[in-house]
Amino acid sequence: MSKETFPHKHFTTTKTAGDMKDKAVRTAFLYSLGLNPINLVVAKQIHGNNVRIVNISSKDSIVGDCDGLITADKELVLGIYTADCIPLLVSAENGELKAAVHVGWRGLYGGIIENTFELLKDKFCADLKKTKVYIGPHIRSCCYEISNEMKSRFGIKPNSSKLDLSGILCNKLNKFEITDVFDIKLCTFHMENLFFSYRHSKCVERIISIIV
Ligand SMILES: [Zn+2]
Repeated sequence: MSKETFPHKHFTTTKTAGDMKDKAVRTAFLYSLGLNPINLVVAKQIHGNNVRIVNISSKDSIVGDCDGLITADKELVLGIYTADCIPLLVSAENGELKAAVHVGWRGLYGGIIENTFELLKDKFCADLKKTKVYIGPHIRSCCYEISNEMKSRFGIKPNSSKLDLSGILCNKLNKFEITDVFDIKLCTFHMENLFFSYRHSKCVERIISIIV
């Protein structure tokens, strides 16, 4: 998929834009794109596997107890904060539906990908084969060192010490026959001059990825 075919405007910030958890910084960023900050909805992001359907009544809010948001509301802007986890943006039904999902190892392991696409299919009858997916910057297999316990959890070979988050994610997308995947292929740890990386510097700041 080329970016041009993605039916939604979408953006991921870099460090230069500042800490997107800071309301003033975030508000300035959204205004700079011509977006009204009041239309932004974000998930609380608790490293769980819950995905919520939101509508205009959720605008300008943080939706609790979830890591993924789906909406059919064109006015809403969905956002995901990250500093190494995957920001996953989804477009379905020719742009009628959009989703934003925070995907770390806990969410991947806990089934947040399955929950996202099953909800799109079951609640909205979305044709998943035509779904378009954007994988934003995250810590990649070049840099994501993991423990032996984590290796056994994900069935990773003993001779490898790295976790491939997007590889695991893409295997899950394949099971749903989702092939229209754009991966920006940037590593937040590697490029910590450009992105906030929690594993690199234990930072509290976050970039944001939004889908409009
Ligand atoms: Zn890297």
